[in-house]
Amino acid sequence: MTETRFHAPERLEDAISLLSADEDARPLAGGQTLVAMLNADLLSPSQIISLHRIKALQGIERRADGSLRIGAMTTHAVLARSGDLRGAHRLLGEAAGRIGHEAIRNRGTIGGAVAHADPSADYPPVLVALEAVIEAVGPKGKRVIPAAEFFQGFLTTALNLGEIVSAIILPPSPAEACTHYEKFARVEGDFATLSVAVALWGGGVRIALGSVGPVPVRSAEAEAKLFAGQLSDGAIKEASAKLVAASDPIDDVRGSADYRRLLIPRLVKQAIRTAQAKDAR
Ligand SMILES: Cc1cc2nc3c(=O)[nH]c(=O)nc-3n(C[C@H](O)[C@H](O)[C@H](O)COP(=O)(O)OP(=O)(O)OC[C@H]3O[C@@H](n4cnc5c(N)ncnc54)[C@H](O)[C@@H]3O)c2cc1C
Repeated sequence: MTETRFHAPERLEDAISLLSADEDARPLAGGQTLVAMLNADLLSPSQIISLHRIKALQGIERRADGSLRIGAMTTHAVLARSGDLRGAHRLLGEAAGRIGHEAIRNRGTIGGAVAHADPSADYPPVLVALEAVIEAVGPKGKRVIPAAEFFQGFLTTALNLGEIVSAIILPPSPAEACTHYEKFARVEGDFATLSVAVALWGGGVRIALGSVGPVPVRSAEAEAKLFAGQLSDGAIKEASAKLVAASDPIDDVRGSADYRRLLIPRLVKQAIRTAQAKDAR
């Protein structure tokens, strides 16, 4: 039996030193994925480094330029009911509220979900649509990585050995932005068969899909077809065709690749129309 050592440092620097000295060490955030993987014998880390006591990973801060810095240890439940999420940032709260069940939302964190990079998870398309950046701290210091570059493939990110996701930063967004996160899952609480993140503001539409490729799908060609003021059914259909072309879905227990492609136009239209209806209220 492999022995696993447990650490709960209070300083981020100490967590980074432990992680960078041992490639078999793993950070522990909410444990909702890590513990399930340990139970299933998919992982046997030499050391587990709990991030719970590190204050630098906690809290939500609105910065002077209107951007929002969300500490990596912020739970899904806190984001789902946060009054700090305004304008387009609300998209993140909508997605957080659709993750798993209440028990998972109470423990699971945005940093853990982002670091795990499951292609069917709810945050990745939202972060790509909002052009968020992931802040990572490691032995060489701090760096920021655009979400579109951070997610690199199935359970694969741009993080290097010893790096910890310290925060997610949402760029400023105007108060009038309206959003909708549409998730299609087999049952409530399951991962998405397809998810659509939509934000409308300033005459533009940002749209990203989850669960139809190894990384979130965003298409400049699709967005070029859409103008928030005049979103005809025809324009949405043309944009959906571009998104289908940009997607690369797989067959899995949540649906076949063909089924997912079929869902894209339906869910894209539903997401855009729901976002518009919120705008009209
Ligand atoms: C039954 C069930 C249903 C779920 N349903 C959904 C769903 O519908 N949608 C969805 O998006 N997710 C879902 N999840 C996953 C859930 O969102 C997890 O909370 C999340 O994936 C992992 O977050 P965590 O804080 O629990 O991380 P952990 O489980 O603690 O860690 C996950 C991985 O990330 C690493 N890690 C953790 N924090 C950091 C960090 N700050 N920096 C670097 N690496 C780090 C860990 O070492 C580990 O490899 C579900 C999970 C379960 C068990």
